[in-house]
Amino acid sequence: MTPLGIEEIQSILGLLDVRRLEMSLVFDDELFEVQEGPLVGNLLADLHTGSPGMGRVGLCTVGALRTDTPPACSIGVKLQVFHAGSNEYREAEILSMQTRPTGVHYYVHYTDFNKRLDEWVTLDKLDLTKEVEWPKPPEPPAPPVSSSHRKKDSISKNSKASRPQKHDGDDGHKSDSMDVDDPTPTDDTKLQEPANFSKEKEIEKLRTSGSMTQSAHEISRVRNLSRLQIGLYELEPWYFSPYPPELTSSPILHICEFCLSYFGCPTRFLRHRQKCDLFHPPGNEIYRDQAVSFFEIDGRRQRTWCRNLCLLSKCFLDHKTLYYDVDPFLFYCMCVRDDRGFHLVGYFSKEKESADGYNVACILTLPQYQRTGYGKLLIAFSYELSKREGKLGSPEKPLSDLGLLSYRAYWQDTIVDILLEQKGEVTIDELANMSAMTTNDVIHTLQTLGMIRYYKGQHVICLTDAILAQKEKLKERQRIKGKRVLDPSCLQWKPPVFTAATRTWNW
Ligand SMILES: [Zn+2]
Repeated sequence: MTPLGIEEIQSILGLLDVRRLEMSLVFDDELFEVQEGPLVGNLLADLHTGSPGMGRVGLCTVGALRTDTPPACSIGVKLQVFHAGSNEYREAEILSMQTRPTGVHYYVHYTDFNKRLDEWVTLDKLDLTKEVEWPKPPEPPAPPVSSSHRKKDSISKNSKASRPQKHDGDDGHKSDSMDVDDPTPTDDTKLQEPANFSKEKEIEKLRTSGSMTQSAHEISRVRNLSRLQIGLYELEPWYFSPYPPELTSSPILHICEFCLSYFGCPTRFLRHRQKCDLFHPPGNEIYRDQAVSFFEIDGRRQRTWCRNLCLLSKCFLDHKTLYYDVDPFLFYCMCVRDDRGFHLVGYFSKEKESADGYNVACILTLPQYQRTGYGKLLIAFSYELSKREGKLGSPEKPLSDLGLLSYRAYWQDTIVDILLEQKGEVTIDELANMSAMTTNDVIHTLQTLGMIRYYKGQHVICLTDAILAQKEKLKERQRIKGKRVLDPSCLQWKPPVFTAATRTWNW
């Protein structure tokens, strides 16, 4: 390869200011000969994104944010954005932009805040009087495969050239396992998008592959639905969900609250409602008390319904794995009843056979029922099933932020209740057996609460004054608001038995 001269680089860079380039790059003829050299890598990266300043901080003009194409790129820029909810400026990153009749809109993610708060804002919400941070240069694009640049996984990658690929460099196995997306997308993952990245392909992949895990690609970083209407409620989705792209442009996605079918067109939805004859989840009602009912649904027998449930719940669950391949799962759905039918409040999925002893895979209370004690009831139900199975269980990790809060509260409350009821000494194993919690979860909870003390040469569990005071407060709140509890005698259920053939869809 012929070394590039300064003039050539200038002409390639075109619009970029060479003085700025000189600040970032050391011009070294020798390095330009190496195709994959780090400096050339940066240079190529700049040609790709063209962000002025490359990972640096500086003032930014309105013009520089007007486009999402190189060389002046707004995507990835971090700056101060006015967050109406908290009435203050917060640091945020621009993830996407759209030109609408009303002007340019930016989709921003607030640093250190949950993606739920991501939103579309107009230009006037961006503070351009302060310095902004330009995106870091991406990894250099993979060079063409040649005898001098061998990639150890080049063959397997090329054999799947028609599918979107990640450029993971030396982490070849990741690139090939299309069904297992990276559960912990990093901040710069969108910069690793392959050249043949296509939104349509990506959505199709999410829809049809075994997994609906949050993808590392940009497509899933931007919420794709504006509003959902389900039953009597209109909701604002929190996260991306792979509903068919042609429906996501509708101002409202209408979901039948019983069969969970979805419609972009209100007329078609109304027509459907007139003939839909489902009034409860399509499974066995295994629990009924004064307030709620639980249904058990087999993912293999009710594939469409369960997939629709996964699509709906993806709107409110972010990083958690959601399986589009629903066959290996049972879905336990909690409903409230009225004269119109059984209305879905929340659910959890559970593997028919979990090698890791998980008793919950995904768990969600629909937003319209959150903060009213239903989440804790769902968790309690999952442990009630484990008790019937004679097993100790734990939810699959990672949990969502809200999920973790609910579980912590449940674990604490459950353990404290047992300790208050038991008069004599209780061991950790006994606590686990009585609650169906794993010993790990019991120990972790006790440690978090500072309840394990070292006394006279041995470890003891003790209820601290702080814990007891907290318990009293909780009791008082429950006296006022009412407490939702399960009645184990209302559970009509035997642990189902599955053969290998009925667990998956290979039949
Ligand atoms: Zn329906």
